[in-house]
Amino acid sequence: MPSRLLDALLLAMPLPENLETWRQHLKSQLPYPVQGAQTLFIGEPTLVIVAFQHDQVEVFFPAIQWRHHDIHTAKPRSQGVISSHDGTLEQLLALVEETIALRLKSFHECSFCGSRCAPEVLGSMQGEPVCRECMKGRRVLF
Ligand SMILES: [Zn+2]
Repeated sequence: MPSRLLDALLLAMPLPENLETWRQHLKSQLPYPVQGAQTLFIGEPTLVIVAFQHDQVEVFFPAIQWRHHDIHTAKPRSQGVISSHDGTLEQLLALVEETIALRLKSFHECSFCGSRCAPEVLGSMQGEPVCRECMKGRRVLF
């Protein structure tokens, strides 16, 4: 699983030139905020995770595993690997876009305010999906 601490340590080692070019492309060309260095966390909330290793790039779907009613842990699921030897930036971008589309599909509309939210920030009230902000508002009212 990608970790931001490991990420910081790995950054000390430079990536092969083509992977560095792909990394810069993802950081600057996508219409989403990007965090991280060697592992990129794209979108807020995270829509896709792209982990640069020394001879390949692995793309992860930021899946969430529920452990309790409102406790969850990140369990990224691999969507595929692009090799630095025979892979292309186009292949990487296609995989990234596919994963973003899949992630956006997993979002649900809050039944109170109508905003589309990641499943991990949605709770439920009388069987209807409700976002965290609306939950807070309701608690104050009661
Ligand atoms: Zn809401």
